[in-house]
Amino acid sequence: MTELLSNYVSGQWTSGQGAGTALHDPVLGTELVRVDASGLDLAAAFAFARHNGGHALRALTYAQRAAMLGAAAKVLQANRDAYYDISTANSGTVKNDTAVDVDGGIYTLGAYAKMGESLGDVHFMHDGEPARLAKDPLFQSQHVLTPTRGVALFINAFNFPSWGLWEKAAPALLSGVPVIVKPATTTAWLTQRMVKDVVDAGIFPAGAISVICGSSAGLMDQLEPFDVVSFTGSADTAAIIRSHPAVTKKSVRVNIEADSVNSALLLPTETVGSEAIDLLVKEVAREMTVKSGQKCTAIRRVLVPESLYDSVAQALSARLAKTTVGNPRNETVRMGAVVNREQFNTVRDGLTYLKAQTAVLHDGSTHALVDADAAIACCVGPTLLGTRDAAGSDAADRVHDTEVFGPVATLVPYRNNDLDHALQLIRRGQGSLVASVYGSDPVALSKAIPELTDSHGRVHVISPDVAAFQTGHGNVMPQSLHGGPGRAGGGEELGGLRALNFYHRRAAIQASTAVLTQLK
Ligand code: NAP
Repeated sequence: MTELLSNYVSGQWTSGQGAGTALHDPVLGTELVRVDASGLDLAAAFAFARHNGGHALRALTYAQRAAMLGAAAKVLQANRDAYYDISTANSGTVKNDTAVDVDGGIYTLGAYAKMGESLGDVHFMHDGEPARLAKDPLFQSQHVLTPTRGVALFINAFNFPSWGLWEKAAPALLSGVPVIVKPATTTAWLTQRMVKDVVDAGIFPAGAISVICGSSAGLMDQLEPFDVVSFTGSADTAAIIRSHPAVTKKSVRVNIEADSVNSALLLPTETVGSEAIDLLVKEVAREMTVKSGQKCTAIRRVLVPESLYDSVAQALSARLAKTTVGNPRNETVRMGAVVNREQFNTVRDGLTYLKAQTAVLHDGSTHALVDADAAIACCVGPTLLGTRDAAGSDAADRVHDTEVFGPVATLVPYRNNDLDHALQLIRRGQGSLVASVYGSDPVALSKAIPELTDSHGRVHVISPDVAAFQTGHGNVMPQSLHGGPGRAGGGEELGGLRALNFYHRRAAIQASTAVLTQLK
């Protein structure tokens, strides 16, 4: 029997009472560890976090909590090699892809440690300036932000067991709010191990951080009015979370990060041979293959003028053909596996669904696996589809509303010299996390941007002058907002200190100016 991972609740390591669910290596098929959350006293766990963890965290200042985040980042950095091993085994990722998750998580934690320092030794934050309520400036209104006196429950997706934890935990803990994380079962090992290392280092007060690995059953039932829940995952599970009585009856604040059909747009002003086209091709190929396309921010639709459809298809296909797929332990492999057999089948079914309305421009099934048995390994080659012409892009409804969570993208031609047509097609995604725009003319780029910001949480603009510095379409930086309207879930995370809003309650204080100036 493999090891049964413990849960950390009520300040103690506790095993579930069942046999557990096995986690597997998606390349070798071997069983790695097991997780189980049955029999845990969830009511006690939430109460302990809420009262002990919350009280102790709120007694500290922002600067003191920021220092703890910094210390946690150092502990994680010191154990980084172990995380890489777990990620290779459990997520089937090559080193570069592991870095996006592991190093991305540690970097985000470190970034919040730095940002938090600037908040100083205070226990709540002022929100704006006092506003006069009467003719006389003696009686005024001052808004303040106070950490919520509840827990933050995180229900996370399988694709970012490290980054998904820390991008949420950093702002919550900095705010003074204890966290309970429930990682996706398939990849819970890495999350559990990182929490274990931080807990063992004794950095945070008891109850500040808990981890529950296994079934989500009963977690939402524990939530009280001042708790918050932050969910990342599929639109279907998001709908269950949103309709839970904790949200509908107790007004538990909820943040949803769901799926998204993100776009890359080449401006109509570009012509054959332009550098912007090369940049687009490079970025799309990278986005399709990083983490085998299992990134919520990955490019799914590539919008190009009809006249450039063939040349972009050729350049992109040539690049994708060079992607070696297989066992991530082999140094020559550039793309590992998808996370498990279920995802493998879902990607295959998604491809069949999209192919009914598209042409195959590069067929992922032609990639022979390196060092891996195709009967066992959940490896999928990168596939580029195309809607053939502008009329096809209008007619093909599936590409605009289907997220195939794997190395799959569709080339979507729009009418030549018709930016409005491209924008109209992009909007059929009904709200996305990110769109990237490629062009060489700053004026043309700046005109397109405001047409995208209403329907995207982030617009990533790539012009030749930033080619060497740009941070990547799909990379989520702690300084920038993550989340998107509409089908992307309507959530907001990160964006620097803006992330703290979710964990604070805003109140207006109406008082004399003499009292307000004493508020610290
Ligand atoms: P999922 O099946 O919805 O699972 C997400 C989480 O919800 C898991 O921890 C899962 O636990 C839990 N869960 C399942 N049923 C639940 C219920 N009834 N009540 C409470 N929790 C429940 O999603 P996934 O397959 O892990 O993730 C893939 C999706 O996430 C993709 O669509 C991707 O686009 C999206 N995603 C979005 C973002 C973003 O930031 N917008 C980031 C990453 C991924 P179990 O694992 O135990 O079932």
